[in-house]
Amino acid sequence: MPAIPDTRSADTLVESVTLFHFGTLIIDQSMMTYRRGLGTMVEIPVTGAFIEMRDGEHILFDTGMLPHGCDDGKHVTMSQYRSLVVKYEPQDDIRARLAEIGRTPDDIKIVINSHFHWDHAGGNRLFPKSRFVVQSSEYRFAYSPDAFVSRPYARAYFDCGIDYELMQGDTMVKPGVGALTTPGHTPGHQSLMVRLPSGRTMIMTGDAMLCPANLDPALPPGNAHTTEHAVASIARLKMLADLLGGDLVICHDPDFWKKWRSAPHRYR
Ligand SMILES: [Zn+2]
Repeated sequence: MPAIPDTRSADTLVESVTLFHFGTLIIDQSMMTYRRGLGTMVEIPVTGAFIEMRDGEHILFDTGMLPHGCDDGKHVTMSQYRSLVVKYEPQDDIRARLAEIGRTPDDIKIVINSHFHWDHAGGNRLFPKSRFVVQSSEYRFAYSPDAFVSRPYARAYFDCGIDYELMQGDTMVKPGVGALTTPGHTPGHQSLMVRLPSGRTMIMTGDAMLCPANLDPALPPGNAHTTEHAVASIARLKMLADLLGGDLVICHDPDFWKKWRSAPHRYR
């Protein structure tokens, strides 16, 4: 019997994954769960990840928030906007989070933005020496978003002199690190699949899912650009997690830090 051909590319180059806390938002529950929980405020974390690579080309998934007035890395904010409150302290700065693990922005060779919303691309301008990779559909939409979803695209945060590398669909960024298109929340949203040396797979959802309640039944976030696509992306993430025995790392899950350990812990 002929052997099953091995069509895989190189094995994972991932050494470890460290999860970061980038501050907290207080928002209406119905932003998390479509038309449910209106009037109930919920506090959610903003998170991201550092992916240590064996070849030294370390990766950052999302750059967190960097609210106005906090560029110096020293200030605290408790800002009230139209429908949300931002809580941000100096240690939530991506530079401070990297320092906790003995790294600086210069150690980041590749930044992968899930999408260009202000709480995921806020620190982009701190990485002038890094390569940035995003979906071309997100790049195009961010520069000319539909008016009803334009507010989270704070242009100064992503349009800051970076020469973005644009991907067309699901892409292996490095062996063991795959970008997975998960549109719906935004047209060009992507999640990230990371295969650890242990063989375990972490699936970082970004905003394709905001909390576990989006899973069962597939209930889109309330702030999706296209709810039909959001539901399909949630189903795809769930299927892949089930198939691979992978862990869904749900970016804004209110119980995130009850389930996961933050820096300096390294998942391997
Ligand atoms: Zn978003």
